[in-house]
Amino acid sequence: MSYQPVADPASIEEAAALLRAGRICAFPTETVYGLGGDATDPDAVLEIFAAKGRPRFNPLIAHCADLDMARRFGRIEGLALELAERFWPGPLTLVVPLVEASGLSDIATAGLKTVALRVPARPLARDLIASVGRPLAAPSANPSGRLSPTSAEHVRAAFEGRVPVLDGGPCEAGVESTIVTVGPDGITQLRAGALPREEIEAAMGVAVAVASHDAAISAPGMLKSHYAPGAKLRLAAAAPEPGEAYLGFGRLPEGIEGEALDLSPHGDLREAARNLFGFLARLDETGCARIAVAPIPREGLGEAINDRLERAAAPRD
Ligand code: AMP
Ligand code: MG
Repeated sequence: MSYQPVADPASIEEAAALLRAGRICAFPTETVYGLGGDATDPDAVLEIFAAKGRPRFNPLIAHCADLDMARRFGRIEGLALELAERFWPGPLTLVVPLVEASGLSDIATAGLKTVALRVPARPLARDLIASVGRPLAAPSANPSGRLSPTSAEHVRAAFEGRVPVLDGGPCEAGVESTIVTVGPDGITQLRAGALPREEIEAAMGVAVAVASHDAAISAPGMLKSHYAPGAKLRLAAAAPEPGEAYLGFGRLPEGIEGEALDLSPHGDLREAARNLFGFLARLDETGCARIAVAPIPREGLGEAINDRLERAAAPRD
């Protein structure tokens, strides 16, 4: 994928116009610069992954202008609501049940039924989101594997000017938000971050459990919320076997009798990525025991598609 150098927006309104048009734009929060895109627009979210060169579709945080906006997308109730009222705006991300048909792109949630939400403290960030009128997915504005950026200069240098940046000066925290979720057993921290766990405990008067690092962030299937269909998956399958549903890529084989969907008849990886979670869920809903999946090229977004399929296919209890 190649990018032309792009002009930076000179104002919040200009940045909001880019984002409303489905483009990506980096902007500062109190933690780090985020690479923002409309979290309700699958192509904008895919553009974030493509620009970052991120090899996997992990779920992204949807940044909201205020609690009201956040509640249109996530069910924030009970302890989670108390946390939001106490710590928002601020560097605390809440993982809560997704509101059905909320319009959030399933690429932003990686097909999960939960969503990570946060209202940033930085007024500039909130004004931008309010002006766009939709939540912004915004992972750190750095190419995958590089240091998180705390100034517009960092962002420009890391992307060599290929990503527009709303310059708001340096970020204070320089550390990502703390991520917690609320379950029947109370609050669990999924990722340590700018809001110390002790502060949450002191304010709420309850202990905060810590998920093991692997469980929270990386291990497929360990965290229940990691997307996994009920059906088993068989990857790199040229054609389905009897009893299998089929998820094709670039033209379905002739004579398929069972359920089949084509991620992209023309073999377009972006189209395939856009359809990935929805099509898997649709095939899964047919109640088939196994879904055979066509081979998908590994270049570009294909790497993230293959990563997600491999996680979904990994053996689990
Ligand atoms: P970022 O790249 O800054 O947007 O951070 C995203 C982080 O939030 C990743 O570590 C994700 O694993 C985590 N995350 C987002 N959504 C969820 C979710 N629904 N369940 C668990 N973790 C999540
Ligand atoms: Mg990062």
